[in-house]
Order: sequence, then structure tokens, then C-alpha cells
Amino acid sequence: MYAIGIDIGGTTIKVGLVDGGKIINSNRKPTASTPEEAVANIVLQIDALFEKYNLTVKDIVGIGIGCPGLISSEEGVVCHISTMKWHNFPIVSLLKKTYNTNIKVSNDANVAALGEAMFGAGEKFNNSIMLTLGTGVGGGIIIDNKIYAGAFSKGAELGHMVIRIGGEPCGCGRRGCLETYASATGLTRMTKSAMEQHPESEMWKFVDGDINKVDGRTSFECAKQGDAAANSVVDDFVMYLSEGIMNLANIFRPEAFIIGGGISAQGKYLTDKLTAYCEKYCYGYKNAPKSEIITATLGNDAGIIGAAALVI
Ligand SMILES: [Zn+2]
Repeated sequence: MYAIGIDIGGTTIKVGLVDGGKIINSNRKPTASTPEEAVANIVLQIDALFEKYNLTVKDIVGIGIGCPGLISSEEGVVCHISTMKWHNFPIVSLLKKTYNTNIKVSNDANVAALGEAMFGAGEKFNNSIMLTLGTGVGGGIIIDNKIYAGAFSKGAELGHMVIRIGGEPCGCGRRGCLETYASATGLTRMTKSAMEQHPESEMWKFVDGDINKVDGRTSFECAKQGDAAANSVVDDFVMYLSEGIMNLANIFRPEAFIIGGGISAQGKYLTDKLTAYCEKYCYGYKNAPKSEIITATLGNDAGIIGAAALVI
């Protein structure tokens, strides 16, 4: 059962031919400055895949699109992408002019969560929540194998749950959002601050004395070597992320939390710490089944596979 998955990003648009949750082939083009141009490019990319595999639109079950920003999945419209100046763009109806098939669009974080739930780490679960820890914190809620995005598909902004009143300022206008502590950006900020307070820390050696080289790996790698300041940063990071996970567990109690994004490269080292923290403090964890905390497995393919999953 073939489907087309489209992963729209700030710099590239990736289009893939997907079969049963596997990418058969994909291509990419730089993201065009106007949405009209982007759609023209998408059509070229889909046609190239059709030609290569001798397919027509009748051979696919549909086209799924994952896109950053505010999306109206019901109307098939990209409402707003601040970084790309796309406003109220009816991407689904425009693509339907060329392809008479089922076409759906959803927010990229929701799409990644669906991809992991159907074909990745969450395959054996019907209910899961994904947290993607990158520049920000993206989130997706999967209930009974479907995306739950709230009314007007504008909910599930899990990164903007406040975990510290009066905390760090967030791009959304509030303070203390999960995103400001549990993202790679937040972790980098906390790492730099700890280094400034601890000139003796091994973290300085790790970045050759250049604080501008600090990233989401610095504290984790030095913590594994036993550096006290690095361990303290990792403990804080685990605390903040765990508090967010427990808030979600108390509301949704999914079977699994799936951790994705750059920081998820820490794998079991991170998920074991999160599990230990949550087991200690989460309501009902002592006397009832717990949500598993696991690492995402699809990596960068989650965008294309998840988009295709919208129509599979
Ligand atoms: Zn926020």
C-alpha cells in the first residue's frame, strides 16, 4: 500500500514514497520562499517518484503532509508559519488540483508522533505521547492510534506547559514553559551557566575552553565521566523534563512516552533517569501500571513516515 509523505521544514521539503511504514525512496528540495512555488516543487518531486516507480495517483492511498506552525487539519490549511511567512495557505485544495486522492495535512510534531506510534518505538501501543527535544520541545498525543490535537487542531502544544512559575521567558509570551528547560536550547543555557560558576569543571576541556561550542551533548558526556557540575546540570534537566512527563501522565496516562529529537541520542542513559524520577514522584506509579519511557526509533525519517501515516 503506497503513500506519499511530505515533510515540510524551514530549509528543505522532503517528499517520500512510503510502503508499509518504510521509505522506498525520497527526494528533497530547498523550501521555496512562496507557498505557491513550494507546491509547484512538491508536484515535481511527486511526479519524479511516480515516474521512477512507474506509478500513477491510482496506485497510492493518499498524500500526507507534515508542516511546522499553526495548521488547520480540518480545512487543509497552513494558517501561519512565522519563520516562513506562510499565511492561510490552502495547501490541500491546491495539491488536489493535480492529484485526485486523499490528502491530509497536520502539524509536524503531531505527524512525528503518529509515525513513531504506528511504525516506530510506539508500534505495540495504542496510546502514546511523543516529546521531541530539539531547538524547542514539540509534542504529539496519540489516542487509540489517532492524533489528538484538540479543537481546531490547535492543541497539544506540550512544550508550552509551564513547569516553573516566573521561570525563563518563552517565545510564546509566557515564562517557565517546558520548552525553556527541556529543549536543547534550554539545556545549553543551563550548561553554560553551570560552567561559568564552575571554572574547574571538565566541561571546559570538553569544549576546548570555548563556551560557544557548548551544545546539548556537553553536560551529558561529561556527567558520564563523573564531572560534578555536569551531573548537576543533567539532574536539573531530568527533573524539569520528568515534571512535564508526570503532568502529562497524570492527565492522559499513555502506555508510553516516546522521547525524540537530538537529545534522545542519549538513549537509555536518559530514559532510565527519567523513569527513576517518575517512579519516585508520579501519582499512582507505585500501585498501578506505569507509562514506559522509551527512545524514538525513526530519527529523521519520522517526518516522511508520519506524514504518510496520516493517509495509511
Ligand atoms: Zn511557551
